[in-house]
Amino acid sequence: MIRRSIYEEEHEIFRRSVSAWAEKEVFPHAEAWADDGVIPHEVWRSAGEQGYLAMFADEKYGGLGVDDFRYDMILNEVLAARESGLFLTLHNRIVAPYIHKFGTDDQRERYMPGIVSGDTVLAIAMTEPGTGSDLAAVSTRAVEHDDHWVLNGSKTYISNGMLAGLVVVAAKTNPQASHEVGLFLVEPGMEGFARGRNLKKLGLPSQDTSELFFDNVKVPKANVLGDPTKGFRMMMTNLAEERLIGAVGFMARAERAFEITLEYIQERRAFGKPVGTFQNSRFKMASMRTELDAGWALTDHCARSHMEGELSGEMAAEVKLFTSEVEGRVVDECLQLHGGAGYMEEYEISRLYRDARISRIYAGTSEIMREIIGRGLGLDDRGRN
Ligand SMILES: Cc1cc2nc3c(=O)[nH]c(=O)nc-3n(C[C@H](O)[C@H](O)[C@H](O)COP(=O)(O)OP(=O)(O)OC[C@H]3O[C@@H](n4cnc5c(N)ncnc54)[C@H](O)[C@@H]3O)c2cc1C
Repeated sequence: MIRRSIYEEEHEIFRRSVSAWAEKEVFPHAEAWADDGVIPHEVWRSAGEQGYLAMFADEKYGGLGVDDFRYDMILNEVLAARESGLFLTLHNRIVAPYIHKFGTDDQRERYMPGIVSGDTVLAIAMTEPGTGSDLAAVSTRAVEHDDHWVLNGSKTYISNGMLAGLVVVAAKTNPQASHEVGLFLVEPGMEGFARGRNLKKLGLPSQDTSELFFDNVKVPKANVLGDPTKGFRMMMTNLAEERLIGAVGFMARAERAFEITLEYIQERRAFGKPVGTFQNSRFKMASMRTELDAGWALTDHCARSHMEGELSGEMAAEVKLFTSEVEGRVVDECLQLHGGAGYMEEYEISRLYRDARISRIYAGTSEIMREIIGRGLGLDDRGRN
């Protein structure tokens, strides 16, 4: 088993405090939240009180001013492994950086305090009923007026869609130019903005995933993020971080599946001996251990590159592709080693299996990851081959 060297002592101390908090405030409630299809807002505020939200934010916004990606890795490792559905890093590392990096001082002053305290939960809305992988094809439209833009269209599959107090919405600002997209900061009180259904899903039952509708929503110019023609570039920059933080969660879930299976097959007996002692079980576990170690090594390598500002889009695609596929294989093999028990909801492995299926789809599908990696090799119509 690989000895990960990315963390220092302070990170392990942090891990212990996150685990203690989650054992009290999160894990015991996960089943009730799954029934409700949403996590109570108070939990976000509790995370804010602990200092777990947007730690990189400046102290003047109530943040800790600590921009160390490893703390968010730990948050994701602890929370993703135990099917809590509480995806703090979606808020911290997928959406907040848009406001932190591309926002104006005024936008940061207005929004960062709520983002840090948990009063304002964040969501990002790119996907539409008609398009997901092909972001250039979004049809939500923003039309410029004197001091505002008018937004029309709809989005779907939006994580935190029901809870969000602020949504970063991608909309086309020039229908003639497919890559001219703007990012708009939409708040619940804005007239014409409505939430649709909280969608029922195969897995991640406590995460609210919903439809959002925009019917002539007047968005003040003060709520445009950066250049309204350069949203595409901003999304491409941030997607690398999104894919990496996703990878950490995929690995954490796969590792958990491995651990509980190792325990299970040592206790469960068949033909007079523990299931784990069959050569097949040993070989399967050995192969999975090897894949997990390779996955962690790649993840930590990418995390280091990211911290040095050198994570490329292609490497982010590689780590997302590899770890999500490892997770898929591991949960499947682990469920098989549980036999019929693995199919029962009361066994954790069945829930890890179900929750893992999304990893190869969201934040860019495995096919799109291969496209990005392949294009980086020059293997497309415009490339040299
Ligand atoms: C639980 C959940 C949470 C989500 N959260 C969010 C969120 O918070 N915000 C948000 O904006 N979106 C979110 N999404 C949407 C998600 O990112 C998209 O579902 C995903 O990017 C795929 O897009 P699609 O569903 O439109 O699939 P499609 O693009 O229709 O793809 C269908 C199939 O075609 C394949 N395909 C497409 N293009 C190519 C190609 N060029 N080459 C080869 N194969 C291709 C795909 O890989 C896939 O297998 C979420 C989705 C889910 C299920």
